[in-house]
Amino acid sequence: MNKRSATILRSLAEHIRVKIKYIGGMPDGFFGFADPRSRTIVINANKPHDEHVFTILHELAHFVLHFDQPYRLFAPRWVERSYKSTFMVENTYKLKRTLRRRFGREWQADLWALSAFPIVGTRNDLEAFFDRHPDKIAPFFLAVVFQVKARIGKFIRKSIHM
Ligand SMILES: [Zn+2]
Repeated sequence: MNKRSATILRSLAEHIRVKIKYIGGMPDGFFGFADPRSRTIVINANKPHDEHVFTILHELAHFVLHFDQPYRLFAPRWVERSYKSTFMVENTYKLKRTLRRRFGREWQADLWALSAFPIVGTRNDLEAFFDRHPDKIAPFFLAVVFQVKARIGKFIRKSIHM
């Protein structure tokens, strides 16, 4: 692994109190997994560098978003509100079910990892990763939009001393 990426990932894992173990001789379809009890991430050592960056970030995201705090569905506030109207109750219920199915834990961890990827990995890593996973390009741009929104939000709050 590239030295800079390795240093960032190690510091990040240390900060979250997670150990990273690289194991060889794993099946090809195996990238990695996280064990919340021992706070360990196991990584397939035989995968290329960019896969290591993504897999470690994805598994760290599970600690940050799911193991170390109660799981929260990423849903707009109006979806979570309780309604008197049967129409709204039925439809927000259906919407929540759809959101849970499509934007559940794995999706959230992917989005977190994709947001962090350009900070941790090189441009070549990102290119190599998208070559192998074109399905991750759309969520990547979504992650970029989220970051822009967060930055604009910070800017506005700072500007008007909110
Ligand atoms: Zn996962």
